[in-house]
Amino acid sequence: MKGHDMYRLDHWIGGQSVAPQGGDYLAAVNPSTGQVGGHVAAGTAADVERAVAAAQAAADGWRRFPAAERGRVMLAIAAAMRINRDHLAALEQADTGKPLATALAEIEGSAAYFEFYGSLVYLPAGDVLDVAPDQHVFTRREPFGVVGVITPWNLPLNQAARAIAPALTAGNVVVAKPSEVTSQTTIAMAELGREAGLPDGVINVVLGTGPTVGEAIVRHPAVRKVAFTGSVGVGQAIGRIAAERIIPLTLELGGKSANIVFDDADLDLAARESIKGFTLNAGQVCSAGTRILVQRGVYEDFLAAARRAIEALVPGENLGPIITAPQFQRVQGFFDVARKDGARLVAGGKVATVAGSPDGHFIEPTLYADVSNQMRIAREEIFGPVGVVIPFDTEQEAISIANDSDYGLIGTLWTRDVSRALRVADRIEAGQIFVNVWNTMSVQTPFGGHKHSGYGREKGIEALHHYGHVKTVTIKMESSG
Ligand code: NAD
Repeated sequence: MKGHDMYRLDHWIGGQSVAPQGGDYLAAVNPSTGQVGGHVAAGTAADVERAVAAAQAAADGWRRFPAAERGRVMLAIAAAMRINRDHLAALEQADTGKPLATALAEIEGSAAYFEFYGSLVYLPAGDVLDVAPDQHVFTRREPFGVVGVITPWNLPLNQAARAIAPALTAGNVVVAKPSEVTSQTTIAMAELGREAGLPDGVINVVLGTGPTVGEAIVRHPAVRKVAFTGSVGVGQAIGRIAAERIIPLTLELGGKSANIVFDDADLDLAARESIKGFTLNAGQVCSAGTRILVQRGVYEDFLAAARRAIEALVPGENLGPIITAPQFQRVQGFFDVARKDGARLVAGGKVATVAGSPDGHFIEPTLYADVSNQMRIAREEIFGPVGVVIPFDTEQEAISIANDSDYGLIGTLWTRDVSRALRVADRIEAGQIFVNVWNTMSVQTPFGGHKHSGYGREKGIEALHHYGHVKTVTIKMESSG
């Protein structure tokens, strides 16, 4: 595998490194230093064409791989990722600047996808249906063929593995496109796949920009399904193409998730975890709990505990940089918005200075109080370490505020009252609810959104159902006479 010092990265097509047909490369900046860390292939539609052809050539062989062997290759990839975890973490750190512990957790989560889906190959591939005594009717799951996987820059390896592992388990072949600023680990994963026994062409990775490479993947007639993780705007654009082509799509988009603290909660725990919920990965997590709703009776106590938890975080140590320069500017823009809207600044609110990284894109973990749910900082996904606190009086009011959002990815509840937890969990419009914990890293739990947070589900057994067709076979039996 390539090292991470001023690298030059090519596509991975048909089991080998392939230079871009157009010969162009894009500079990739290390956000910790603000310096160019390497160059990645600037792919074009011609490169996508080659990758899709390589995938098509591999499709039938992979589909016919005995399930047990397919599973063994998946488990071998998981093992290879763990063996190479330090190297993968270093690549992820070079692209994203995230702290080592966060990068290692991401690598472990990525290996876990291959392990989990690799062990699902033994699940029955269909059912027998009792339709009529003289008919034998069965269903079987079949792969789509070539699946396009397009991923963003915040958890690059994890999001690629999250889609690629179930796609492969279901018997598909993949053409993936990581974000052009965080391409290294997706290429490294494909290389490890080859070493682990994956046939050439089963995973192909085309590097480059979204409008050029991403759109060419979505439009390619041989690509039969797309799994997209990213922003709402790009999700809508891809959705329009998928609608024209009538191909299935999984959309994992943004969030502005409600984190509701009731007055009977363990307040210190709720404060600590609520801060973690929007500062992990410097807030660049789609499932961040950025709208913190706090019941009026414990409002000021919560803010005091939250301030203590936030002051314990050190940018550059616990908190990485904002991964792209435009996103760094965008997060700072919200500080002006918050000021104009009259939000009360509890902590942060400015760029962080990190010793030894004068050009790094660091932001202080930031909390605003006295926020109304109509303010822009409560409605728009900021995608940085910025949380807002909104007071409420009653359970009903908390539910109304939580659901008054374009998004619906996560809901987190802090309460000791089990009945209330169940009542509120039932009413929140979100794909997943956490009670007295904020933890979105499990591979087993189906993950996805309501409303503008997207549709379809990644993770869990559920995701396998999004990577194949169900075919029904009906056989009329002759009577024995
Ligand atoms: P983005 O939508 O700009 O880009 C995502 C990917 O799509 C990149 O690979 C990009 O190159 C590609 N792309 C861009 N334009 C395209 C086009 N026209 N056609 C095809 N592909 C195109 O998102 P981003 O800025 O990289 O990532 C941040 C966003 O991702 C946030 O909104 C965040 O909430 C979301 N996100 C969602 C989840 C989830 O699971 N729900 C996870 C992580 C991030």
